[in-house]
Parts: sequence; structure tokens; C-alpha cells
Amino acid sequence: MVIDDSKKAADRLSAALLACRKAVVFTGAGISTESGIPDFRSPGGMWATMQPIQFDEFITSKAARQEDWRRRFLMFDQFAAAEPNLGHWKIAEWVRTGFVDMVITQNIDGLHQKSGIAASRVVELHGNGTYAHCLDCHKRFEGAAIRREFEETNEPPICEACGGFVKAAVISFGQAMPEAEMLKAQTATLEADLFIAIGSSLVVFPAAGFPMQAKQNGARLIIINAEQTELDSQADLVLRGKIGQILRQLPIIAS
Ligand code: NAD
Ligand code: ZN
Repeated sequence: MVIDDSKKAADRLSAALLACRKAVVFTGAGISTESGIPDFRSPGGMWATMQPIQFDEFITSKAARQEDWRRRFLMFDQFAAAEPNLGHWKIAEWVRTGFVDMVITQNIDGLHQKSGIAASRVVELHGNGTYAHCLDCHKRFEGAAIRREFEETNEPPICEACGGFVKAAVISFGQAMPEAEMLKAQTATLEADLFIAIGSSLVVFPAAGFPMQAKQNGARLIIINAEQTELDSQADLVLRGKIGQILRQLPIIAS
């Protein structure tokens, strides 16, 4: 069933949360657009203006690494300046009050953690774009130091510990998914009896496999998104509209 009246949508959502035993929230780029971070696939989204850099290009081409870093520095600034919006705050409240057990996110902006959710309750399927790490020994690097050196030399950063390539800690197209995160997401998905997908076009796999898996496992699937998604036909409930507009109408729920 598709509901496009935001008050009715909020009522159905709060009833579902009150009725569930264990809920999982799954988020995509759409949760962060109201914080000023563009998504990929909406008109005017990132892919409307640039092509993604594939992982193998990053490994094999210095020019690709330079271009990747130029983009990442812009991203560091954008993420550092962004603040959680009402959607993030509501989800944080559901976690705090015990309705939601785990937040599985495709986002790399760190805004769920910035809204106060413990890192142990956020599964970042596509990594984190607020810092960098060595692809070989996984040593962590902060943006500011790397940037200073890159701006002086135009040389893509190399790990001082092992000589490996340093890359923003995100999963690029063509890069293997992080095993521990995939497992954690799967466990949470299989334990959930309510799965709420928020702000995702649900076209990026394997991430979009989790809502499908939840549904196949007998959970109730609710999708909140401004546009149609790939999985609307499988959902128990589709709440269509702006995330902020729907969640703003949600009464405060207490466990
Ligand atoms: P997507 O761009 O494919 O889909 C986003 C969906 O959100 C769209 O269907 C759009 O209609 C909807 N949307 C946007 N703003 C909305 C709002 N205010 N209310 C309701 N719906 C809204 O994003 P995706 O499904 O997450 O997949 C793309 C990939 O992009 C992911 O892998 C993610 O890592 C990456 N990404 C992340 C960020 C971020 O970290 N903030 C930003 C851009 C892309
Ligand atoms: Zn290293």
C-alpha cells in the first residue's frame, strides 16, 4: 500500500514501531539531503555531474588517485560542515528508546554517529568518508595532514608505515564489501521483525539485498522515500514523501 499523506504516513509508522519486537533502520543518501548533502540519483544529484572513479582505476592510475583525492577533500569539507537533520534525530531517538536495534547505512557521511548513535549500533556498509586509511595495513589517517602534503606536492598519499596507497575509508565501485559489516548487517536483518528503509533508491547491491532478505525472512518492510524505489512492490507499506515532512508529524514514542 502506498501512502502519500504525511500525517497518515506518520501514524502508520508509529503504530508499526509500537507493535514490533525488534526494528532495523536502513538508510541511504536521501536521509542526508536535508542536511545539504546531495544524493546520487535525484535530478541534480552527484552522478548528474561526474562519473565515479572505479577501485581498479584508483589502484592502477596515478591520475585517477589525484582526481579521487581532489574530490575527497571537497567531501571532507562538506561532511565536516553538515549537521544531522530531523530524520537523523528521530532515528537516534528510536535507538535510544529501544525500538531500533541497529542502523544499517549506505551513507559515508558519519551523520548517524553525529546524531548520538553509538558506533556499535551503526553498520557502515560503504565505509566512512570523514577519514582515510591505508589499503594494506589499515592505518588511519586524518584529512588535514594528507591535504597539506597533497596541496604542496600533488602526490597522492602513501602510507608511511608500509608504503601502501592511502584512500578515503569508503568502498568504491568495484571494491570488495567489508566482511565484518556485511555479517553484522545480516545478523541484525535476520533478527528484525520490522525493517524500515529510509531515503534509498534501493538499486545499489549488495546493500539493497538486506531489505529483500528481511522481507523474505518474514519481517514487515516499510519504505520511506520521495520517489518510487525498486522494492516498492515487495513492501508492506510505502510512505511516499519528504523524510522530514513525514517524521516531523510522528508523535514522540516511548517504550
Ligand atoms: P540514491 O541517490 O540512489 O537514492 C536516494 C533516494 O532518496 C532517491 O530515491 C531520492 O528520491 C530519495 N530522497 C532524496 N532526498 C529525500 C528526502 N528528503 N526525502 C525522501 N526521499 C529523499 O542513494 P542510495 O540508495 O543511498 O544509493 C547510492 C549510494 O550513494 C550509496 O552507496 C551511498 O554510499 C552513496 N551516497 C552517500 C551519500 C552520503 O553519505 N550522504 C551521499 C550520496 C551518495
Ligand atoms: Zn600501511
